Amino acid sequence: MSPHGVAARLAAVRSRIAEACARAGRAPEDVVLVAVSKGHPAARIREAYAAGQRVFGENYVQDLVAKAEALGDLPDLAWHFIGHLQRNKAKHVARLGATVETVDRVRLAEALDRAVERAGAGPLPVLIQVNVGGEEQKSGCRPDDVAALAAAVRALPRLALQGLMTVPPLGEHPQHARPHFARLRALRDEAGLAALSMGMSADREVAVEEGATLVRVGTAIFGPRPGAGPTRGSGEHAG
Ligand SMILES: *Cc1c(COP(=O)(O)O)cnc(C)c1O
Repeated sequence: MSPHGVAARLAAVRSRIAEACARAGRAPEDVVLVAVSKGHPAARIREAYAAGQRVFGENYVQDLVAKAEALGDLPDLAWHFIGHLQRNKAKHVARLGATVETVDRVRLAEALDRAVERAGAGPLPVLIQVNVGGEEQKSGCRPDDVAALAAAVRALPRLALQGLMTVPPLGEHPQHARPHFARLRALRDEAGLAALSMGMSADREVAVEEGATLVRVGTAIFGPRPGAGPTRGSGEHAG
């Protein structure tokens, strides 16, 4: 195995997360690593799977559907949808039972609830995406709207609200994200929820120190995304 292969990088990411857990006095099993495979082929996901990874994140419905199909032979594979979701695509994530981390409006939650009903599937795990930095171009509800959106999601019988997710404003230094992570944690506590999805390749250790229960790591596991431009690479797009 190449020292720069997926398995080696995965092991390095896992041990850094375990060290961050130790610093924060947390148990490593309380932090779930979501391997963000966007922009990488199904073969890379297989490599990570062979190295024990089970939870994968995708940003685009079309890619999620294609990879889920290509990897249909792998048992216990769990998908997290972490991109902007259009209501007319809700049926695809519902059918796959993907955890949707990016619910940011009531109408999307309602569309997901209906899609789960039509798919005849069990409750779909969801998180509310919060735009903690108040950035205009970013998805996510306003921090002030979390309580109302959480109440609306809880009222939908086919969605299982697990927690909050955020992508903080881009900073020069990982420490830049800390106050945003702390804010999300406070919002999560106010909402009486358990899951806290925050931290990417650059700031995952700070996120773990601030209480993340899900960290979404792509580049540090799979390397740079082939041909990722500024739009596709950012994980945000219109719709
Ligand atoms: C792409 C993406 C990630 C992973 O980013 P890396 O910097 O490659 O680790 C995590 N979360 C979201 C929402 C993303 O779009």
